[in-house]
Amino acid sequence: MLLKIALPNKGRLSDEVRELFSDAGLEVRARGERALTASLGGEFEAIFVRAQDIPEFVADGAAHAGVTGWDLVSEAGRELEHLMDLEFGRCRLVVAAREESGIVQAGDVRDGMRVASCFPRLTQEYFARRGQRVTVVPVSGAAEIAPHLGIADIVVDLTSTGSTLKMNGLREVATVLESSARLVACGVNVPEARRRLDELKLALGSVLAARGKRYLMANVPKAALTQVREVLPGLNGPTVVDVLDGGNFVAVHAVVPAKTIYRTVNALKGLGCEGILVTRIERLVA
Ligand code: AMP
Repeated sequence: MLLKIALPNKGRLSDEVRELFSDAGLEVRARGERALTASLGGEFEAIFVRAQDIPEFVADGAAHAGVTGWDLVSEAGRELEHLMDLEFGRCRLVVAAREESGIVQAGDVRDGMRVASCFPRLTQEYFARRGQRVTVVPVSGAAEIAPHLGIADIVVDLTSTGSTLKMNGLREVATVLESSARLVACGVNVPEARRRLDELKLALGSVLAARGKRYLMANVPKAALTQVREVLPGLNGPTVVDVLDGGNFVAVHAVVPAKTIYRTVNALKGLGCEGILVTRIERLVA
């Protein structure tokens, strides 16, 4: 049976979704520019739709699972099973006001103010929770210009670096929601479909786990082994291999965090290690 997965057809998330799926061995195959569906190989099929529509597609059963932003899943308010944080498409849904408005925190928003947003539901909920009575003005894009047009006093909009808000003379005053791309599903109860979904989770998860790691190999003086152990953190312990005619050296292999690789390499050099080799890892299954 085919597991249908709804993926964003364009926009910010689509390239990274494709890259992740491709790294996981689920490459989009034979897809014309406008094709709505494509095989991902094996028992997986992609359905390409707008990121905003994915929560509805999945909730209504048109696809077994989907990948889209957590902001869009939350705004849709449909009951979906959250399966995995895919760690890209990170952004925040924030309350922002004109720099000269005097609004510097959410508490400064007064009753009766107008709030423009592409996320009317989340905006309504946010202010209702805080006991603030605002009027939500739903817009379908470019909320950041609403205050300048006199349509609204403040906005609730997505931002990642904050630069678009700043460019539009807006100041971020509160965070409504933190978002990133997520894998979601709905009502996948048939055992075979569930198995496929588990396979998908394992494939994507192993790529994500590998992204922040590097495989490191080095020839280590036997006398420095104890200190080398301390330099290679957070592991079950490095693999130590005898080297044929290696003299006083053994080979050490370890999976290390990518972020601190320069420090690790320097420390190993300082301990007299030689032939240090660092490579990317395609997948990591714990
Ligand atoms: P798109 O349809 O291309 O605008 O996709 C928008 C989705 O990308 C949003 O719903 C978010 O989940 C995600 N995203 C990530 N960073 C940003 C950002 N800085 N601004 C807007 N959307 C972002």
